[in-house]
Amino acid sequence: MKQIIIATKNKGKAIEFKQFFSDYGIEAMSLLDMQGDIPDVEETGTTFEENAALKAEQMASLFDKPVLADDSGLMIDALDGRPGIYSARYAGEPKSDQANMNKVLEELTAFTALEERTARFVCVLAIAVPGEKTIFRKGYCEGTIAFSEAGENGFGYDPVFIPKGYQETMAQLSAGVKNSISHRKNAILHLDEWIQDIL
Ligand code: IMP
Repeated sequence: MKQIIIATKNKGKAIEFKQFFSDYGIEAMSLLDMQGDIPDVEETGTTFEENAALKAEQMASLFDKPVLADDSGLMIDALDGRPGIYSARYAGEPKSDQANMNKVLEELTAFTALEERTARFVCVLAIAVPGEKTIFRKGYCEGTIAFSEAGENGFGYDPVFIPKGYQETMAQLSAGVKNSISHRKNAILHLDEWIQDIL
């Protein structure tokens, strides 16, 4: 395999994956590099795996090439794993990071000790190769939910997520530190064995 398409229009994710694949001599292109009208894939699955597979498989058949797709979110133990696959739109439409964080902080008001506020970011990668069975890799970033927001970096729930082993929220850490401990990074690390197999 010499080429793979990354099913994302997010520049940051595209750069991260391109860097990873270039070390193996594989050219990675994101949807931002592809010509024509690319339809949005509806995330109708009930798990991270189903949603990642939907994106990877639909794009693999559209382009007839190997495609990698990711799906990620935040799971909070005290909320039985919510917001989970609904992380992006937890507080409803229109999609708002601020409203999502407000909702999570509100739902956790009864949990007054940090030990009761454990959570993890989850990232599932699906790789679909035309004619082959889709494979999955998963990565986590463990932590706790802060009592209030802090920090300006990152996106999503970063201002309320304190990674395990740190005192600051993810949004107070530099992009370099975040990218070295993130759920995406941990999932990407698991791709290594798969690439060794196919090369
Ligand atoms: P996506 O699958 O990467 O688009 O992520 C879905 C949602 O999960 C985002 O809209 C965020 O709310 C949340 N999320 C995923 N990854 C992160 C992260 O690294 N930091 C903060 N929030 C995240």
